[in-house]
Amino acid sequence: MDKSIYMINARLKCGLILALSLIIFSCSKSQEPKKTIVKDMSDKIVKSESDWKKELSTEEYHILREKGTERAFTGEFWNNHDEGTYYCAGCHQKLFSSATKFESGSGWPSFYEPIDEENVEVEKDTSFGMVREEVLCSKCGGHLGHVFPDGPEPTGLRYCINSVALDFEKEQ
Ligand SMILES: [Zn+2]
Repeated sequence: MDKSIYMINARLKCGLILALSLIIFSCSKSQEPKKTIVKDMSDKIVKSESDWKKELSTEEYHILREKGTERAFTGEFWNNHDEGTYYCAGCHQKLFSSATKFESGSGWPSFYEPIDEENVEVEKDTSFGMVREEVLCSKCGGHLGHVFPDGPEPTGLRYCINSVALDFEKEQ
């Protein structure tokens, strides 16, 4: 009799500890500064093309504003294996984490998901006789690359991004 009470007690304690650690875990998760940027129309950067031309390098302007594509295996980041964060080269919005970067063999930096889905926009692109999903920065509207449905788990997506459209900051 005593023993069974002890067992119930022990089980209760176990359950409590589990519940407590779950609460602590979910709290620490929600404290991540994930959505500090308020997303509304006023948050978007609107600049004239001549202003963009002044601010960006010739290469950056071509990719971000004219929807250009750098040649495969020539960019700065396709073979970058450092840990850190990739930002938009046009407006410094956070876009991708090195944790989601993978070897696609394409010659362009490839990620299976953005840091926040709200930080990128996807639009149908029918240029060059192909139907592709274009990836844009949601803040400045800069062209980043394309997303294809042949990526690895957990999303099955491959965000194929131009190095020129990205700035990288190494983790300290
Ligand atoms: Zn941007």
